[in-house]
Amino acid sequence: MTAAPSRAALRPEFGPEDVDALVDDLLALLGPRGVSTLDRARDRASRDGSGLSPILSAQQPLGRPDAVCYPKTAAQIPAIVRAAVRRGVPITARGKGTGNYGQVVPRFGGLVMDMTSLAQLTGHTETTISAQAGARMLTLEKAAWAADRQLWMYPSTVQSTLGGFLAGGSAGTGTIVHGRNHMGFVESLDVVYGHEDAEIVHLEGEDAQPLVHTYGVAGVIVAATVRLEPLQDWKCLYASFSHHREAFAAARRVANCAPAPRLLSADSAPIVDTLPADPALVRGRASVRGIIDAAALEESIAILEAAGGRVEAVRSGLAQTVRMSAISYNHPTWWLQKAVPDTYFHMECQGDALVERLSEVEAVYEGGMLHLEAGHGTMAGMLNGVFHSAEQVYAGVPELEALGVGVHSPHQSYVDLDADRVRAIALDTDPKGLLNPGRWRA
Ligand SMILES: Cc1cc2nc3c(=O)[nH]c(=O)nc-3n(C[C@H](O)[C@H](O)[C@H](O)COP(=O)(O)OP(=O)(O)OC[C@H]3O[C@@H](n4cnc5c(N)ncnc54)[C@H](O)[C@@H]3O)c2cc1C
Repeated sequence: MTAAPSRAALRPEFGPEDVDALVDDLLALLGPRGVSTLDRARDRASRDGSGLSPILSAQQPLGRPDAVCYPKTAAQIPAIVRAAVRRGVPITARGKGTGNYGQVVPRFGGLVMDMTSLAQLTGHTETTISAQAGARMLTLEKAAWAADRQLWMYPSTVQSTLGGFLAGGSAGTGTIVHGRNHMGFVESLDVVYGHEDAEIVHLEGEDAQPLVHTYGVAGVIVAATVRLEPLQDWKCLYASFSHHREAFAAARRVANCAPAPRLLSADSAPIVDTLPADPALVRGRASVRGIIDAAALEESIAILEAAGGRVEAVRSGLAQTVRMSAISYNHPTWWLQKAVPDTYFHMECQGDALVERLSEVEAVYEGGMLHLEAGHGTMAGMLNGVFHSAEQVYAGVPELEALGVGVHSPHQSYVDLDADRVRAIALDTDPKGLLNPGRWRA
């Protein structure tokens, strides 16, 4: 591959006449219900979960499309992309719009392609499930359970789409065992490149992995096949603690039980107090909660009780595992910000130092409160703090790193996974730089 041209970072040049011509093309292709230039549709397609970041919120509007289209069939995707590329208009694929970095908001306008009507499950084997890109992760997990299987992983935004999770997300329930979604979760992808003669291209195995977590800049995902495994007998275990220091240390021990938990989260009392009401989430007490294999339940309870924890509930069934997942990862931050608006920011953190040096980690930011997740071979979490300025947020990063904490900023929407390699791929797959442009750090 040759080096990416600098124009990939630049604003595509197109004007209102190009958009008008494209809208005419799309009307012919999709009919009057298939495309909209109404303010309501354009505003809706300008929103996502980036409100979690006060830094991104201050940059609003992050972008606004000139038109939104609503394909209903897979065959329409390459036809739409062909039309947009010929007109030189940027195209941003949109799933459920829950991405929290602003990566689904079309930075330079152009066309947003809403993928949510492409929601068919197209089949499964013992080890894989296939679906169109707009299928919800929850739908896939339900179908897997019905076949005595489970997804390798899904995000806490269970209503989000398969394409959106693969292109814009990274981790979730299942990550403790299987890592992040670019680590083999995908068996194959059907994608459409930004070419004037675009067609659906099928990518298998290693050829498909580089397109994961790349915000759609190297190809639009039309459909995917992802990994399943045999369904385990899961128990949702809730425990409470008088202090989160003991809770977090015990959570790390439970994460190392075998078979490994599917999810393991922990919070201090002030965050627990903002979570949805549930007798198992005791107000004023820290919480450890996990989706635990029945074979490890006894050992997990023994660890938690030995550390001073009190078991509050043990629940079973798909709905309970989904419910517990929906208060993991970014969700405690979301609930905290809902309860106390316009106050907090968060920083994505990783490393065992989160547990071993908890007090020092939380002291980096005023009002520091860590939401803890067991990650893949290490601990991870969201460090929440009182927001003053972007400078104050970034000033904390070297302090965290000095404590041995790995930091990923959720306050930017640039491709951040192997960006040089993705840029080189996009040079071939999107030579005009029209797929979700503006995602390269200058
Ligand atoms: C409260 C909260 C909790 C969250 N928890 C998690 C979590 O646990 N784990 C996690 O990984 N993420 C999490 N996220 C981020 C996000 O919700 C997920 O990554 C989600 O799976 C994204 O799916 P979506 O359908 O909403 O995608 P969108 O937000 O619609 O899109 C995300 C990105 O993917 C691109 N894209 C969408 N569809 C396609 C397609 N078909 N082809 C190519 N590109 C496409 C978009 O252009 C955009 O760049 C969270 C966000 C919030 C606000």
